[in-house]
Amino acid sequence: MGSIFADRIFRLGTETAFEVLARAKALEREGREIIHLEIGEPDFDTPQHIKDAAVKALMEGYTHYVPAAGILELREAIAEYIAETRGIEVDPDEVVVTPGAKPILFFGILACVNPGEEVMYPNPGFPIYESVIRFVGARPVPLPLREENDFRLDPNDVREKLTDKTKMIILNSPHNPTGSVLTRQDLEEIAQYVMKKEDLIILSDEVYSEILYEGKHESIASIPGMKEKTVIIDGFSKTFAMTGWRIGYGVMRKDLAQRITQLMVNSNSCTCAFTQMAAIEALRGPKEPTRRMVEEFRRRRDVIVSGLNSIPGISCKTPKGAFYVFPNVKAFGMKSKQLADLLLERAGVAVLAGTDFGEYGEGYIRLSYANSVENIRKAIERMKATLSELI
Ligand code: PLP
Repeated sequence: MGSIFADRIFRLGTETAFEVLARAKALEREGREIIHLEIGEPDFDTPQHIKDAAVKALMEGYTHYVPAAGILELREAIAEYIAETRGIEVDPDEVVVTPGAKPILFFGILACVNPGEEVMYPNPGFPIYESVIRFVGARPVPLPLREENDFRLDPNDVREKLTDKTKMIILNSPHNPTGSVLTRQDLEEIAQYVMKKEDLIILSDEVYSEILYEGKHESIASIPGMKEKTVIIDGFSKTFAMTGWRIGYGVMRKDLAQRITQLMVNSNSCTCAFTQMAAIEALRGPKEPTRRMVEEFRRRRDVIVSGLNSIPGISCKTPKGAFYVFPNVKAFGMKSKQLADLLLERAGVAVLAGTDFGEYGEGYIRLSYANSVENIRKAIERMKATLSELI
C-alpha cells in the first residue's frame, strides 16, 4: 500500500507543552481549576509603546511585502543591539529577520547539515532541536546536562564527542528547561575544541539573553575567531513579551545569511511588515518594561524555589536565567511523566515532565514561573498536599 506521506515527516517531533496545555484546557471545560505552570511565555502584555508603533505602522501602510531578509532599518537596529550586548561588530547584511526565532533554528539546520552528519545538542533541551536534527536525517548527539554541574553542559563532553562527522553544535544559554547559564570559561573551552574544525557551525540559541538574574550575557560569538562560526539566534518573544507577534532573527556570516534569506523566499516570503516596525521601537525605545519584567520574574523565582524546596522529596536549584525551574523529583520513585500527569489530574497543577526535553530529563519536572506569585503559592500548597501522600 502506498502512503501520501514522505518518510521524513515521521521523523519530526513536537513540543509537549502544547499538548499538556490542551489537556489542562479540557479539564477546565469540565469545571476544574488548573494552575498553568507548563507555559513557556511571559504572562506580561507587550509594552504599550511597542503596540503603538505597530498601530502607527499599519496606518502608514506597512501592509505589503517587504525584503525577505527583513526591513533594512530593523536589521540596522539589530546589528547595533547585538554589537552593544555582545561586543562584536555586526553588519546589517549579517542579519536575517524571521517570523519568530524558531525558523532560524529550522533553516539553520536545513542549510548546513547533511543526512548522516552529527549535531550535538543539550539534553534536556528545547525539544525542537532533536526534532529538526532527525527531520533532516542527521544524527542527534546529546550533550547531557547534569544537576551536579548546575545543568551546564560539560565542555569535556563536547571534546569527547567530536568526530569527523560533527557538523553543528547547538548551545542554549540561558537555558530552557533548566534556567542554567554557561560561563565565559565554558564558552572559551568549547571554542578551543571546535576552532580547529573548519566546517563546523555553532547555533547559539540566546532567546533568553535578557532574562538573566546575575552577571552579563555571554555569547560564544564574542570569543575571538568564533563570530564566523556562530549563528546567534535571538528575538522579541521573551525579551519584550511578544510571542504572538512572531518575530525573531539570526546573526551569521553573510554567505549563510544569503542562504537563509533564500529559505525565507521559498517559505514565508518575508516577516510581517508592521511587526518589524514595532520591533524597531522595541530595540530603540525605553527598556524599562523589560527591566521591570525581569525583576518580577526574579521575585517569583525566589518564591517558587523556596516553595519547592519546602516540599519533602523535592530539591530545586536556583536558576540563573530564563523563567523555568527544573526540580529533582527522583525521591517519588516514579517516571517524570507519571508524576507530571498525577500533578495535573490530582493537584490541578500543569507542569511538564523532564523527559519532554529529552531522555536526560528523567527524574525532573519543569515548572514555568510565568504566573503570578499568588498562583505560584497556591500551586506549591496543592503540590505539597498531593505529594505528601506519596512519600
Ligand atoms: N528557543 C528556545 C530555547 C525557546 O524556549 C523558544 C520558545 O519557547 C524558542 C527558541 C522559540 O522562540 P520564538 O517564539 O521566538 O520562535
